[in-house]
Amino acid sequence: MEIKNVTIAGAGVLGSQIAWQTAFHGFNVTVYDVFEKGLEGGKESHKKFAEIFRSQRGASQKEIDATFSRLSYTTNLEEAVKDADIISESVPENLEIKKSFYKDLAKFAPEKTIFTSNSSTMLPSMYAEETGRPEKFLALHFANPVWDANIGEVMMHAGTDIKYFDIVLEFAKNIGMVPIPINKEQPGYVLNSLLVPLLTIGQHLYFTGVSDYESIDKTWMISTGAKYGPFGIIDMIGMQTVYNIALMNGQKTNNKEMIERAAQIKAEFIDKGKLGIATGEGFYKYPNPKYQNPDFLL
Ligand code: NAD
Repeated sequence: MEIKNVTIAGAGVLGSQIAWQTAFHGFNVTVYDVFEKGLEGGKESHKKFAEIFRSQRGASQKEIDATFSRLSYTTNLEEAVKDADIISESVPENLEIKKSFYKDLAKFAPEKTIFTSNSSTMLPSMYAEETGRPEKFLALHFANPVWDANIGEVMMHAGTDIKYFDIVLEFAKNIGMVPIPINKEQPGYVLNSLLVPLLTIGQHLYFTGVSDYESIDKTWMISTGAKYGPFGIIDMIGMQTVYNIALMNGQKTNNKEMIERAAQIKAEFIDKGKLGIATGEGFYKYPNPKYQNPDFLL
């Protein structure tokens, strides 16, 4: 099966990156968001990504123009999926929203369309039934930023036909990812199985007053040689997703500290428009965050 037409659902932090990366690699990309505002945000991000690709990644103006020519945008789901070979879904990390999105999608997508979810913490089997085509449904999970942290974690659920596992692994490679096959369902794939505990403990250390966020980041960066600490990573992921994960995990495990932390993230960051790198401020200010200064680690 040849993949040419790709639909990206959700034009937020990750959806906009996946759309850009996919169009840059020569695929026709339709970006769908249920909100006009979400779509406009995606278009603005694409202007920023064009600049990053031009100034930092050696892309020519011809390549940038060709990328824009392959991108189209719509808030009409039926229109968005009418000729899609594959869909990459990046709607919010909330089970009810995912379920309702896939129920709607199932009404409009042609039979050929493969559905992939970019959910960071949920399993495909949690909404495979709503897709109406569990055999053509699996996860293709990206890291952030998609082009630098270029892994594509491809994960089946028990009802996925292995044929589509192979097609999606190949597709991931063709859009510049290093494909990571995940042979059975694992909450958080490989990356988030490692990363979520780090970020959770980092937040615990900060929000309970054990240490300040810069010192926590320094500790991790100096001792592991990593380019980012937990709070640099949180700014990259975006506060909305970090909030959703804290709230969901807190409610699932009845963990009061985590629910309280979600409320603090909302009050101290989201309500003040500090959503992370995307809005120019989270824990750090962007561009040129403090943790990139040569003397930060001294
Ligand atoms: P986000 O909040 O930045 O973007 C979500 C977008 O979906 C918004 O533009 C919103 O308008 C839109 N939306 C809301 N309801 C919708 C619907 N019913 N149909 C279509 N669009 C809808 O979120 P994000 O950070 O991009 O996360 C999206 C998904 O990607 C989540 O499942 C998350 O776990 C996953 N993910 C995020 C990251 C990250 O670093 N942010 C990394 C990997 C995976």
